[in-house]
Parts: sequence; structure tokens; C-alpha cells
Amino acid sequence: MNYRIGSGVDFHQLEEGRELWLGGVHLPHYKGATGHSDADVLLHAICDALLGALCLGDIGKHFPNTDQAYLNIDSKILLAKTYGLISDRGYQVVNIDSTVCLELPKIMSAVPEMQKAIADILQITIDVVSNEATTTEKLGFAGREEGLVAYATVLLCK
Ligand SMILES: [Zn+2]
Repeated sequence: MNYRIGSGVDFHQLEEGRELWLGGVHLPHYKGATGHSDADVLLHAICDALLGALCLGDIGKHFPNTDQAYLNIDSKILLAKTYGLISDRGYQVVNIDSTVCLELPKIMSAVPEMQKAIADILQITIDVVSNEATTTEKLGFAGREEGLVAYATVLLCK
């Protein structure tokens, strides 16, 4: 078996009046992430982990934020395109582990929906998709609700 591991991290600012998309799911909240796309920090971290596992560069290389084609795009489309790059090379996803750092909102009730959104795109089952969340104990920009961070690790096999 040919295994490859990848890790990804992504950051976005939070701003009032923006929609908050996380793991492909819309979360009702008074703030949302800012960005060129829908700014789904979790899906972006997963894209970077998938690309990194096969040394394909990063999300900015494949989907530049200067390209109008990606303005306000649903990041599920970016994840699907990224998965295409992986599957074209004969790889499939073994499992994903991920963590989002944010103060609010609480996301645990939305996790099953996130797992399903991610699993459907990557053609895996929800039991190999882990989405965790943590606050930063009110420390730093995440603690002040100025922004949020996501980390993802993926294992691929050929
Ligand atoms: Zn991003």
C-alpha cells in the first residue's frame, strides 16, 4: 500500500454581517468569516491537507483569490475539485482528523451535518471523518472572536 499523509491549516477573520460557513454547513451567528470565497475555514484546511499529501501545492495555487471565478464560491465546490486532483492520481482518503478553534458559536450540534457534507464529497463514510472544536480559553484573536482557525490532517492511500 502506498500511503501519504497531509496537514493543512487555515485562518479567516470574523466580521458582522457575513455568513458563517463551516465544514460545508451554514451556522446561524452574528458574525461570519471574511474571504474571497464563502471563507469556510475547515474545508480550506482539508483542501490544503489533501493537496499537501501529494505535494500539489496549496489552495491558493489552485484557486487564487484574485480569480473572479472563485468569488463567493461554495467551498464544497473547491473541496470537490481538490478531491478530483487526488482521485485522478489514484488516491483515496483513509481518514480525516480536524479541529476548529473558535469562541462562538458552539458547533457540536452541527458536526454530524459537517461530517456528512465532507464524507459525501470525498466518497468516504462519516465514521472516518472527525471534526473537533475547541475554544482558545478567550486567548488571542480566536478568543476575542476576531477570527477563527482550522487544522486538518488526512491520510491517503493508493
Ligand atoms: Zn481559507
